[in-house]
Amino acid sequence: MNAPGIGMTSQRTRQRMIDRLRQGGITNEQVLQAMNEVPRHVFVDEALAHRAYEDTALPIKFSQTISQPYIVARMTAEVMTHPHPEKILELGTGSGYQAAILSRLVPQVFSIERIDKLTRIARRRFINLGYQNIRCKTDDGYLGWPSEAPFDVIIITAAPPEPPLDLLDQLAPDGFMIVPVGGKARQTLQKISVGQKGPVFEDLGDVIFVPLLEGVER
Ligand code: SAH
Repeated sequence: MNAPGIGMTSQRTRQRMIDRLRQGGITNEQVLQAMNEVPRHVFVDEALAHRAYEDTALPIKFSQTISQPYIVARMTAEVMTHPHPEKILELGTGSGYQAAILSRLVPQVFSIERIDKLTRIARRRFINLGYQNIRCKTDDGYLGWPSEAPFDVIIITAAPPEPPLDLLDQLAPDGFMIVPVGGKARQTLQKISVGQKGPVFEDLGDVIFVPLLEGVER
């Protein structure tokens, strides 16, 4: 059962979330519009649905987290700095929220999750919301999705200890990768593109994500 009045409260609290994002420096109106449109409470467990529009990361199943709205907005705004983002690959589907936001902004979203139960739950949410331009699968994201490459942007929502540079091969010519790199103590969000003399790194500041792990869990 939904929390009482979630429909009503969610509209007001969603507006407050958008106001907070603006105050935090998110200026891309398209991104704010997508964050206003996608119901975040659908992507968190029911017991926490009343906290869905707070600006915090929340636990989802299997010790994973749905990212903080501000981080989702920032990552999405970075994706949208691509001149023509058409095909996006996300690694770390988790709740599916980040993929859902992207699906409102670009024609095609592909998302990989290593925990099969999370993939299934996210896929069901996409179907229920009628978001038909997201394809997801259970696999080790370190492999990327070669049969669907090239991608305009690869966005990784879990942190590898080192930048997974092999994945740059799956980028289209003007493409780039957004990835939090580091361990538990410190991670920096990096934007990595392919220059004439090899990878070019841009540092986008400190962040905290769960680790990107190898292998799949079925
Ligand atoms: N984008 C998610 C939040 C991700 S939490 C959201 O919007 O809710 C990070 C997710 O990455 C977790 O679900 C974790 O299981 C997954 N993950 C970790 N390593 C992975 C890998 N190698 N390939 C795919 N998914 C991975």
